[in-house]
Amino acid sequence: MSDPMMTSRRSFLGKSLAVLASGAALAACGKKEAPGPKALSCNDTTGLPPADLQMRTTLGYVDASVQPGKQCGGCQLYKAAPADGQCGACTIVKGPINPAGYCNSWMAKTT
Ligand code: SF4
Repeated sequence: MSDPMMTSRRSFLGKSLAVLASGAALAACGKKEAPGPKALSCNDTTGLPPADLQMRTTLGYVDASVQPGKQCGGCQLYKAAPADGQCGACTIVKGPINPAGYCNSWMAKTT
Protein backbone atom coordinates (compact mmCIF):
# COMPACT_ATOMS: atom_id res chain seq x y z
CA MET A 1 0.00 0.00 0.00
CA SER A 2 1.38 3.44 -0.84
CA ASP A 3 1.22 6.43 1.43
CA PRO A 4 -0.63 9.30 -0.37
CA MET A 5 1.51 11.91 1.45
CA MET A 6 4.72 10.22 0.26
CA THR A 7 3.44 10.11 -3.31
CA SER A 8 2.55 13.78 -3.16
CA ARG A 9 6.00 14.72 -1.81
CA ARG A 10 7.73 12.62 -4.46
CA SER A 11 5.63 14.24 -7.14
CA PHE A 12 6.42 17.72 -5.82
CA LEU A 13 10.15 16.97 -5.55
CA GLY A 14 10.20 15.49 -9.03
CA LYS A 15 8.56 18.56 -10.54
CA SER A 16 10.84 20.91 -8.61
CA LEU A 17 13.94 19.10 -9.82
CA ALA A 18 12.67 19.26 -13.40
CA VAL A 19 12.20 23.03 -13.13
CA LEU A 20 15.67 23.48 -11.63
CA ALA A 21 17.24 21.30 -14.30
CA SER A 22 15.62 23.26 -17.12
CA GLY A 23 16.84 26.53 -15.60
CA ALA A 24 20.36 25.15 -15.30
CA ALA A 25 20.21 23.94 -18.90
CA LEU A 26 19.22 27.41 -20.11
CA ALA A 27 22.01 29.00 -18.10
CA ALA A 28 24.52 26.50 -19.44
CA CYS A 29 23.65 27.18 -23.09
CA GLY A 30 25.09 30.67 -22.69
CA LYS A 31 21.99 32.59 -23.75
CA LYS A 32 21.80 35.99 -22.19
CA GLU A 33 18.98 38.48 -22.10
CA ALA A 34 19.01 40.82 -25.04
CA PRO A 35 20.46 44.18 -24.01
CA GLY A 36 18.01 47.07 -23.95
CA PRO A 37 18.52 50.21 -25.99
CA LYS A 38 21.65 52.05 -24.90
CA ALA A 39 20.85 55.25 -23.07
CA LEU A 40 21.98 58.38 -24.86
CA SER A 41 24.71 60.24 -23.00
CA CYS A 42 25.28 63.91 -23.73
CA ASN A 43 27.78 64.68 -21.01
CA ASP A 44 30.94 64.93 -23.11
CA THR A 45 31.90 68.56 -22.64
CA THR A 46 35.42 68.11 -24.00
CA GLY A 47 36.65 71.36 -25.52
CA LEU A 48 33.92 73.51 -23.99
CA PRO A 49 35.31 76.82 -22.69
CA PRO A 50 35.24 77.23 -18.89
CA ALA A 51 32.56 79.95 -19.09
CA ASP A 52 30.23 77.60 -21.00
CA LEU A 53 30.94 74.80 -18.55
CA GLN A 54 30.12 77.16 -15.71
CA MET A 55 26.83 78.14 -17.35
CA ARG A 56 25.94 74.47 -17.74
CA THR A 57 26.58 73.93 -14.05
CA THR A 58 24.91 77.15 -12.90
CA LEU A 59 21.72 76.32 -14.78
CA GLY A 60 21.80 72.81 -13.32
CA TYR A 61 21.82 70.89 -16.58
CA VAL A 62 21.28 67.16 -16.09
CA ASP A 63 21.33 64.46 -18.76
CA ALA A 64 18.14 62.85 -17.47
CA SER A 65 15.31 65.02 -16.24
CA VAL A 66 13.65 64.17 -12.96
CA GLN A 67 10.97 66.80 -13.53
CA PRO A 68 7.80 65.14 -14.79
CA GLY A 69 6.84 66.49 -18.21
CA LYS A 70 9.87 68.76 -18.39
CA GLN A 71 12.60 67.58 -20.71
CA CYS A 72 14.90 69.44 -23.07
CA GLY A 73 13.06 67.88 -26.03
CA GLY A 74 9.96 69.80 -24.95
CA CYS A 75 11.79 73.05 -24.20
CA GLN A 76 11.47 76.10 -26.39
CA LEU A 77 15.24 76.59 -26.32
CA TYR A 78 16.09 73.07 -27.52
CA LYS A 79 17.63 72.58 -30.97
CA ALA A 80 16.84 69.09 -32.18
CA ALA A 81 19.59 66.65 -33.11
CA PRO A 82 20.11 65.93 -36.80
CA ALA A 83 18.99 62.31 -36.25
CA ASP A 84 17.31 60.17 -33.61
CA GLY A 85 19.70 58.83 -30.98
CA GLN A 86 21.99 61.86 -31.18
CA CYS A 87 22.46 64.80 -28.83
CA GLY A 88 20.81 68.05 -29.67
CA ALA A 89 21.83 71.57 -28.69
CA CYS A 90 20.45 74.48 -26.73
CA THR A 91 20.26 78.20 -27.27
CA ILE A 92 21.69 79.05 -23.84
CA VAL A 93 23.38 75.89 -22.51
CA LYS A 94 26.38 75.05 -24.67
CA GLY A 95 27.61 71.54 -25.39
CA PRO A 96 25.66 68.40 -26.22
CA ILE A 97 22.09 68.34 -24.92
CA ASN A 98 20.09 65.22 -24.27
CA PRO A 99 16.45 65.49 -25.38
CA ALA A 100 15.66 63.72 -22.08
CA GLY A 101 17.71 66.27 -20.11
CA TYR A 102 16.68 69.30 -18.11
CA CYS A 103 17.95 72.57 -16.68
CA ASN A 104 16.49 75.30 -14.50
CA SER A 105 15.73 77.49 -17.53
CA TRP A 106 13.26 75.01 -19.02
CA MET A 107 10.49 76.75 -20.96
CA ALA A 108 7.54 74.94 -22.45
CA LYS A 109 7.65 74.75 -26.22
CA THR A 110 5.02 76.86 -27.90
CA THR A 111 4.20 75.25 -31.20
S1 SF4 B 1 17.16 75.70 -21.68
FE1 SF4 B 1 17.67 74.00 -20.32
S2 SF4 B 1 15.85 72.67 -20.46
FE2 SF4 B 1 15.81 74.03 -22.23
S3 SF4 B 1 16.86 72.90 -23.86
FE3 SF4 B 1 18.35 74.21 -22.85
S4 SF4 B 1 19.28 72.85 -21.34
FE4 SF4 B 1 17.37 71.90 -21.92
